[in-house]
Amino acid sequence: MDDPRESDPVGEVGPSRRGVLRGAALAVVGIVTGSTAPASRGTAADVPAAPPTPAAPPPTRPFQGLIDAEGHVYHNWGRSQETRPGVWVEPISVADVQAVVGDPVRFPGPVSAVGGMMSVTGTIGNDGGTIVSMRKLDAIHGLERDAAGRQVVRVEAGCRLKKLHLWLQARDLEIPFQAEIGDATVGSVAAGDTKDSSLDGEGYFSAGVVSLTFVDETGAVRTLDEATDPQALAEFKCSYGLSGIIVECLVEVRPAILCRSRFSIVRKDSPEALAAAIRERQAGCDAFWATVWLDKLAALCDERFQAGPGAVTPPDSQPVFDALRIQRRLTIQHGLSAKDLPRPTPPPAEIVYSRADCVNEYWRPEATESRLDFQYYEHDLSHLERVFTESHAFTIRFRDAHGFLPNGWILYFVRRPEQAKKPFGLYSGGPGTSFSFDPVYSDPLDPLWQRFAKEANDVAIHTLGGRGSPIQTQWLTPDDLTIPKQLARPRFTTPYYARFLG
Ligand SMILES: Cc1cc2nc3c(=O)[nH]c(=O)nc-3n(C[C@H](O)[C@H](O)[C@H](O)COP(=O)(O)OP(=O)(O)OC[C@H]3O[C@@H](n4cnc5c(N)ncnc54)[C@H](O)[C@@H]3O)c2cc1C
Repeated sequence: MDDPRESDPVGEVGPSRRGVLRGAALAVVGIVTGSTAPASRGTAADVPAAPPTPAAPPPTRPFQGLIDAEGHVYHNWGRSQETRPGVWVEPISVADVQAVVGDPVRFPGPVSAVGGMMSVTGTIGNDGGTIVSMRKLDAIHGLERDAAGRQVVRVEAGCRLKKLHLWLQARDLEIPFQAEIGDATVGSVAAGDTKDSSLDGEGYFSAGVVSLTFVDETGAVRTLDEATDPQALAEFKCSYGLSGIIVECLVEVRPAILCRSRFSIVRKDSPEALAAAIRERQAGCDAFWATVWLDKLAALCDERFQAGPGAVTPPDSQPVFDALRIQRRLTIQHGLSAKDLPRPTPPPAEIVYSRADCVNEYWRPEATESRLDFQYYEHDLSHLERVFTESHAFTIRFRDAHGFLPNGWILYFVRRPEQAKKPFGLYSGGPGTSFSFDPVYSDPLDPLWQRFAKEANDVAIHTLGGRGSPIQTQWLTPDDLTIPKQLARPRFTTPYYARFLG
């Protein structure tokens, strides 16, 4: 590997990926020398004395992608967040991303990246600044070995997860993170928060990122990798884009394995008993996932087991698996809204399938449609019973006071690594198991849901000691979340993030 940590030196520009990076670096060299060392190309002795002249402005670097500076409003998937950037850009090369970051006149700060705009919080907001949509930088460059000999895929930041899963499936490979969200992009989930009840894996996407390339605040292209920069890489993966715009990642892959899911419905007469039944099931399988109805003290449990090699769902699981997959997709699209879903077909008792086949894409809903909205909270496994009991008590109090209930809670389990690998934010508590217990609703704009979500933050974070995410937990205040300020560069820091820095 000849990846430098800063922009490649000026070199030959060719059609290859590296050529593109070098071409981009050329542009950056222009800016760096122009702005910081305008007269430093020779030694003082070489340069004849001359009257001082005003510094020449940096050369304008071409931006070839789409630019929209007409004051349009952009919104997230769930239409709960909207923003009116000063400039919206859709780069078609890394050089374009560099051109944007390095030019504060044409592209007003802060500069922030978005991918699928699937996030539920104000993270996508950047009124008056420059939003960089990464969706056109979505190439999958291929497989290679990293410095540690691991097989990795080189993928651009705007690649949707479903596209990546399909590409790997075709090669009998997979990544362990196979949450049902197919529209999230690699760049967002490499620098942000995710959760999945993964088979034989941590359960958050960035755990598998062994190297990433980004555009820093000067517009330079830099690469961080686990072999040479483990701490800087680990910190960058907690930065939500505040340290730079990711353009490419190396993600570890493995031979694909099938999953056997055992489904069951559990009903109990107390939240303690429900939590105990879930704890027992979780301990007895390779990965556990559930939809919980706290008010009914019931759960649909999915106990997952490794089921041997295989990249695609076996024919003898069809058509049952496909019916299940489509039902799941509609259920998530509509935010578990019973009134908008066909009567559910009970899941089979057991089925063997490829988890990658269960990763879905979701249509962009109209404002009048029911659609998923949720709040995310991370807790340590040791708190399972307490979280169920307190959350149940809060839910019943809220229902009695306001006549409102969420449509359900989704429960994921994530394995935490040593703290050095996840130094900040979610899963940073050192080795152990976390669970996320996320209330879900189907109308992000419903005032009672919003009130429930705000009060749930207090219970989950301040009473129960849980953690929220600036990407997946709405209505957070600076009392709820601190992002270390050393992760943030002013060029990339939007007002949404500025208030969390500490
Ligand atoms: C229907 C639905 C289902 C979902 N299911 C799950 C699930 O099962 N598991 C789960 O974990 N999440 C789930 N989510 C949440 C979603 O996966 C995350 O919000 C994810 O981050 C969205 O990715 P995105 O590309 O849309 O990011 P965006 O919303 O476009 O961007 C979010 C933030 O990521 C950062 N960012 C984006 N691109 C870059 C980049 N190139 N470089 C640096 N920073 C960047 C920025 O801070 C940006 O504000 C779901 C969301 C929806 C709407």
